[in-house]
Amino acid sequence: MVAASKPGRPICLGSERVASLECSGPQDACELLSQALEALVEVDQQSEQRLEAVRTKLMALVSRVRAADGMLQRLLREDQEGDRHTEALTAAALRDPLTGLLNRRAFMALAGDVARGASLRDEELSLIFLDLDHFKRVNDTHGHAAGDAVLVDVADTLRACARRSDLVARWGGEEFVLLLDSCSLAQGLALGERLLDALRAKEHRLLPSDWQVTASIGVATDGVGSESTKEAIEALIQVADERAYAAKRGGRDRVVPDPSLGFCQVA
Ligand code: GH3
Ligand code: MG
Ligand code: MG
Repeated sequence: MVAASKPGRPICLGSERVASLECSGPQDACELLSQALEALVEVDQQSEQRLEAVRTKLMALVSRVRAADGMLQRLLREDQEGDRHTEALTAAALRDPLTGLLNRRAFMALAGDVARGASLRDEELSLIFLDLDHFKRVNDTHGHAAGDAVLVDVADTLRACARRSDLVARWGGEEFVLLLDSCSLAQGLALGERLLDALRAKEHRLLPSDWQVTASIGVATDGVGSESTKEAIEALIQVADERAYAAKRGGRDRVVPDPSLGFCQVA
């Protein structure tokens, strides 16, 4: 900053005093003007430098924000991928890999909740145990791949006939279970009959068109208001399994108890 040689009325640029105005002639005026000009140039250069410094700081800030944002996005992506991976692993642990139905462990875990819900609502709960008839013959006659394809077809049929609220599981091998929420014995038996019809009608890709896949079905029901727990589910499975076995002994391709007998005889 160049100070005015003679004090006088100040010339200011913003808050900065750049010269004093006291001239007694053209020479003084020239001197004053040149001082003011020098001061202006100096202020201009300082402003330019300050502006440049601010610009540099801003650029640094912008690149840090961009870097932080990139890192955040990457972390979010990794987090989502981790979630998807965990979900896939969880789903795989719950499902039978061949048919996509619930596996036995998942069925038991979920069945307890369904049973508690039915108990709270004082509603009946039914269970179907289904064992395919002479399934070994499919493997022996047409190969294991044909047997696998039949199991997938059967699973599709069970899913199509069940309601969304029902649990459908592959119990193991060629055995399946369905837990029917809010379902009386009469309704369970009727569904059993519908399943048999659907299985008989189904054609299978790797089997001759006249090959009928049939099943032996047992149905059991848990009465209104009973203490429905895991033990109740296990008891239902045991009774339905025994009835499916009775259906085998009775000639296969049937439901036990036989709905045509009337329900008073099957308690
Ligand atoms: P039944 O009418 O008395 O039930 O006779 P079945 O032949 O259905 O019963 P068995 O228990 O004698 O045979 C069951 C067969 O199911 C034997 C086994 O090889 C076959 N099996 C079990 N799991 C699978 C599978 O995942 N894929 C295939 N292709 N076959 C399977
Ligand atoms: Mg079996
Ligand atoms: Mg069988």
